[in-house]
Amino acid sequence: MDLFEYQGKQFFAQYGMPVSPGQVAFSVDEAVAVAEGLGTPVMVKAQVHTGGRGKAGGVKFAADIDAVREHATNILGLDINGHIVKRVWIEKASDIAEEYYASFTLDRSAKKHLGMLSKEGGVEIETVAEENPDAIAKIWVDPVGGLSEEATREWVAAANLPDAAVEGSVDILQKLYTAYTEGDCDLVEINPLILTPEGKVHVLDAKVTLDSNSTFRHENYEQYDESQPRDEREEAAHAKGLQYVGLDGSVGVIANGAGLAMSTVDVVNQVGGSPANFLDIGGGANADVMAGALEVINNDPAVKSIFINIFGGITRGEEVANGILEAMQRVTIDAPIVIRLDGTNADEGRAILAPNLNDKLMMEDTMLSAAEKAVELAS
Ligand code: GDP
Ligand code: MG
Repeated sequence: MDLFEYQGKQFFAQYGMPVSPGQVAFSVDEAVAVAEGLGTPVMVKAQVHTGGRGKAGGVKFAADIDAVREHATNILGLDINGHIVKRVWIEKASDIAEEYYASFTLDRSAKKHLGMLSKEGGVEIETVAEENPDAIAKIWVDPVGGLSEEATREWVAAANLPDAAVEGSVDILQKLYTAYTEGDCDLVEINPLILTPEGKVHVLDAKVTLDSNSTFRHENYEQYDESQPRDEREEAAHAKGLQYVGLDGSVGVIANGAGLAMSTVDVVNQVGGSPANFLDIGGGANADVMAGALEVINNDPAVKSIFINIFGGITRGEEVANGILEAMQRVTIDAPIVIRLDGTNADEGRAILAPNLNDKLMMEDTMLSAAEKAVELAS
C-alpha cells in the first residue's frame, strides 16, 4: 500500500523526523487558503502514487499567492504517468544547499534490511546506480540486531556526506529505520534529503510503502487504505474482499490464486486478446465468492466475454462447479462464460457442468483453448 507524499511526511513526523509544515488541498481555492495560512514562498506539489513528479511539472515553487493560484490550477487535473492529480500538498519552501538520497527496503536474498545512502540525491536512484554506482553507500542491517548509532556513523562516512550534514543525517537515518521497522514498511525513501544553507538536514520528499498485511497491527492504517485511488470497479471488488485490478480490455478474468490470475491475463494477451481485469478469488471458489466475482465483472460494460480459470488444489472440482452454477442462478450474466476447470476432482466438476453447457456457458479442456475461445467471443 503506497502512501501519498504528504501522508508519508506525516508518518515520518510521528517518528520525529524534520519535515516542512504544510497542508493538503483538493481545489485551487483551498490551495490558496493554505498558502495564505503558511505564508509564501511555498511549494505546490502534486499528490499521486508515482515518482518523477518534478520532471512532469507537478512540483512548483510559488513566490507569492498569484503563483500558488497559477500552479495549483495547472497541477490539479494534470496526468502524471497515467495518474490524474486530485490533490496538492502545499508546504513552506526550503532553501537547498545539497540534495541526498536515503532509503530502507528488504533485501530478500540477504535476509536483511538494505539501507542506501547517496550524496547524489534529487535524481532517480536507478540513474545513479547505473551511471555512478560508487556514489551509493549500502548497509545491510540484521533485523534482530537493529541499526546502531555506530553503524549509522560508519554508513554516513562511507557516503562521504560533508561534515555539516553528518549529525543531522545520523539522527534522521536512525529515525527512518525505526519508522521503517516499527511501521511495518516495505519501503521508505527520502529523495531528496537536503542540507540547507543554514546547515540543517531536512526531509523534502517521502515515499512510503506499507505492508498491507500488517494493517491489523496498526489501527490508523485504515485511513491510508481508504485514500488509495481506485476506479468504480475496483471499489466494488474491494468492498467484496476480492483481489481485483481493473484493466482496459474486453475479456473478464476470474482465477483462483494470484499466480494463476496473472498467467490467465498473460495467456489472454498471448492469443491476441486483452483482459478487462485481473481478479483472484483466492483459495475458495464457493458460490458466494463466485457470485461476487461475476457481479463485479458483469458490471463492467467493457466486458464482452468471461474466462473462468480454476485449478483445484484444496478446493475440489465439484465444489467449484456447483459454486459457478449457483452463482449463475443468483446473478444474471450478460457476457458468455468460458470455463477451464482442472486439478483436484476436475472430472467430477466437469461432469456437473456438462449438462448445463450452452452458448452462454462453455467449457474447454485447456487454459490455452479456453483463452482462445474467450478472445474469439470478445471480438
Ligand atoms: P519528485 O520529482 O516526485 O521526486 O518530487 P520531489 O518532492 O522530490 O521534488 C522534486 C524536486 O523539486 C526536488 O528534487 C527539489 O529539487 C525540488 N524541490 C522540492 N521541494 C523544494 C523546496 O522546498 N525548495 C526548493 N528550492 N526546491 C524544492
Ligand atoms: Mg523526489
